[in-house]
Amino acid sequence: MTTPIEKDTVATVHYTGTLPEDGSEFDSSKGGDPLSYLVGHGQMIPGFEEEMMGATVGETRTFTLTPERAYGDRNEEGIQKGETSQFPEGIEVGTTLIAETEIGPMPITVSAIDGDEVTIDMNHPLAGKALTFEVEVVEVRPANEQEISHGHAHGEHGHNH
Ligand code: ZN
Repeated sequence: MTTPIEKDTVATVHYTGTLPEDGSEFDSSKGGDPLSYLVGHGQMIPGFEEEMMGATVGETRTFTLTPERAYGDRNEEGIQKGETSQFPEGIEVGTTLIAETEIGPMPITVSAIDGDEVTIDMNHPLAGKALTFEVEVVEVRPANEQEISHGHAHGEHGHNH
């Protein structure tokens, strides 16, 4: 009887994430180390955690998440305009910058440049998108007390602090 993925276990998985709209891959652990996460503590996006509950070693699950269950909807208030003089030299459409905000550092993306006017987008790059994941379970083990108190997985493929 192998341990299924459930709250307070550490799951180690290989995953590939694609966009159902065009099949393009936005992230994958294949060819590198698998990912370990502490289950049930918000380390992963909500839909990913829900869909993997109960899976056991060797099992592969494929699922598509709506934006609400992934990185949320795009927020139009996250799109703002500024002047080129406010930004570092050499920015282009697609450049990612880190902005200091009231809630801490946030990545922003330059989404348009029109003369002196720069449009930036503070939404997560995957906000508003449905996401498909193919996830293979490599290992499942009980989490230890330190991991539960820290809220993340430790060990070879997790954090080391
Ligand atoms: Zn820790």
